[in-house]
Amino acid sequence: MTRGPVVALSGGVGGAKLALGLSRVLPASDLTVIANTGDDFEHLGLSICPDIDTLTYALAGLDNPATGWGRRDETWSFMDSIKALGGEDWFRLGDRDLAVHVERTRRLRSGEALSQITIDFAARLGIGVRILPMSDDPVRTRVLSDGGWIDFQDYFVRQQCRPVVRALSFDGAPMSQPAPGVIQALRTAGAIVICPSNPFISIEPILAVPGIREAIEASGAPVVAVSPIIGGKAVKGPTAKMMAELGMDATALGVALRYGDLLNGYVVEHEDAADVAGFGARVTAAKTLMQSLEDREALARVVLEAADSLRR
Ligand code: GDP
Repeated sequence: MTRGPVVALSGGVGGAKLALGLSRVLPASDLTVIANTGDDFEHLGLSICPDIDTLTYALAGLDNPATGWGRRDETWSFMDSIKALGGEDWFRLGDRDLAVHVERTRRLRSGEALSQITIDFAARLGIGVRILPMSDDPVRTRVLSDGGWIDFQDYFVRQQCRPVVRALSFDGAPMSQPAPGVIQALRTAGAIVICPSNPFISIEPILAVPGIREAIEASGAPVVAVSPIIGGKAVKGPTAKMMAELGMDATALGVALRYGDLLNGYVVEHEDAADVAGFGARVTAAKTLMQSLEDREALARVVLEAADSLRR
């Protein structure tokens, strides 16, 4: 049976690891990655799209393995210089990375759509896989903490996720439209993969764009998620902390319950398999911690096999 094209929903660091695995076990023309843009923001006059860039760098082999964000072989002259001038230095922009933001900002200002620019940058960096922003319209994640609402990057980078999260909002989402190609990709998908990304700040903003959740539900393709929580802990970042603060169990089961009926299949670490056994979706136990390139490829194969076994 032929599978048909695969669509992956992804945030940044965790999502990009599986997206890279999928890109190495599928023909490039069979993979579309839909990127969260809720983390996007304007800083120093530049349009910054952290998840699109993390995906682009990972798929182009330009990512920085030490940090998980930014580019490899980076230099920091711009950052050092702006700091010396008393400018803002809380969001680290390397010199090579900076070129992407400068050129993207120029093209956005000249009227091009983010999706067009993203596709073009990917092609120029030698990526065959299609990376699409969830929307060309601005959607901005905001965090309600005890002191009030704060912008996402203020929470995530400047305050290093210290504020307690009471609620999240995706400003602009109700008025946004899926980027060109997103609905068509979901409609014709043979499998839909929810990468091991933060459900609240990476996947739910994508699902908040009107039409995307409906297209996933209507597609008939199996929807398989990979848990970003392993043994009650996030591999990196605030997922587990956020779950506890939002009143959920910080477990693989907690993530599954959050996605609910959307999932047909759920891939978890071996140690978490018993906990999620009662959940409605078909559970696959695997090594979901992706340390090496082989781990990424192996998990991609597991996810695709899980989807194939669910295909009606
Ligand atoms: P962000 O947008 O950069 O925060 O990245 P994502 O939302 O895509 O990824 C963050 C999530 O990825 C966290 O919840 C991590 O636990 C998860 N993650 C990171 N590396 C791995 C991994 O190797 N395996 C699994 N299962 N999850 C991972």
